[in-house]
Amino acid sequence: VCPVGALTENDHTWKVVEALADPEKVVVVQTAPAVRVAIGEEFGKEPGSIVTGQMVTALRTLGFDKVFDTDFAADLTIMEEGTELLGRLNKFLAGDKNVPLPILTSCCPAWVNFIESQFPELIDIPSSAKSPQQMFGAVAKTFLADKMEIPREKMVVVSIMPCLAKKYEAARDEFAVEGNPDVDISISTRELAHLIKRANLNLTELPETDFDHPLGESTGAGVIFGSTGGVIEAATRTAYEIHTGETLEKVDFEALRGFDGVRVAAVQMGGFTLNIGIAHGLGNARKLLEEVKNGNPRNLHAIEIMACPGGCIGGGGQPFHHGDSEILKKRMDAIYQVDKDMPRRKSHENESVKALYEQYLGEPMSELSHKLLHTHYHVKDRV
Ligand code: SF4
Repeated sequence: VCPVGALTENDHTWKVVEALADPEKVVVVQTAPAVRVAIGEEFGKEPGSIVTGQMVTALRTLGFDKVFDTDFAADLTIMEEGTELLGRLNKFLAGDKNVPLPILTSCCPAWVNFIESQFPELIDIPSSAKSPQQMFGAVAKTFLADKMEIPREKMVVVSIMPCLAKKYEAARDEFAVEGNPDVDISISTRELAHLIKRANLNLTELPETDFDHPLGESTGAGVIFGSTGGVIEAATRTAYEIHTGETLEKVDFEALRGFDGVRVAAVQMGGFTLNIGIAHGLGNARKLLEEVKNGNPRNLHAIEIMACPGGCIGGGGQPFHHGDSEILKKRMDAIYQVDKDMPRRKSHENESVKALYEQYLGEPMSELSHKLLHTHYHVKDRV
């Protein structure tokens, strides 16, 4: 079985067309960070062209009622995952040697599937935080549906993902309430390009517009989720400030970036050295997990794993790159450029995320946050 679902690709654009044509439904869409730096390639643009504003206009023109940003939910993921990381670290520093470390990021469903089937003995160490796609769906069908005064059954949540495994993630039983999924339809970057072309729109000629709010606000930290090392860099930006109580002068953690399949870096957080591991590609993930299984000799505290080369920029649902690392590098550079251009670059500075906690969730890891934003994993038979 292909870990990213690439061998069982299903076209779900017909489901989107059906939902948009249904006058009884309110159809909202979220778009992942890696989509905006790659979809332009389907319309003749250079790899790494940033077409966020045109993509938003295209989605509105296609008929979506609200166009939101998965990056909002990526910031939310960092609030939950960063809090969980600090909670485990504080227990560890207080002398609890049974605390599950290193914590593993959990936003890549192909990677989650891999650990569930290949490393059952490590099943309790991934973060329990849901992926941004699923956090978005859970918040949309509760907080947003309440705000819009519609029942969750009337809302259809569509996600545009660089990923084919996200279709499988959206269909997992634990991400539904009484059979109604948090994310109804997940389509890939390529499928969105097909929809836009079928509507006779040329993405490159469309004017730029902005996401809807409140689930459209994001920071640079949410954007870098699209690249290998980005999730852990975003978590480090927030964990550093919360742990030390100091403002981070330089938010770019260059040591966490790059293309090496396995990378290890030490980040100084006040008097504590946080040891971070990063892997992209499941062969590389296996190497790091074997190391953890064999006693974690490098004393890693946190590990980010992404199944695809380069992270989501190289996802199975992106315009084909045929393994060309130059294309991936251009998409990666574009991700960091979008981050650099953002007025806010730390997840805990996202005003809409702050308001969501104030008005609805309470605080990270609260009872309601746990119910809506966290999950659990299952040991599966090896495949
Ligand atoms: Fe999907 Fe990203 Fe994981 Fe690839 S790295 S399987 S695109 S979530």
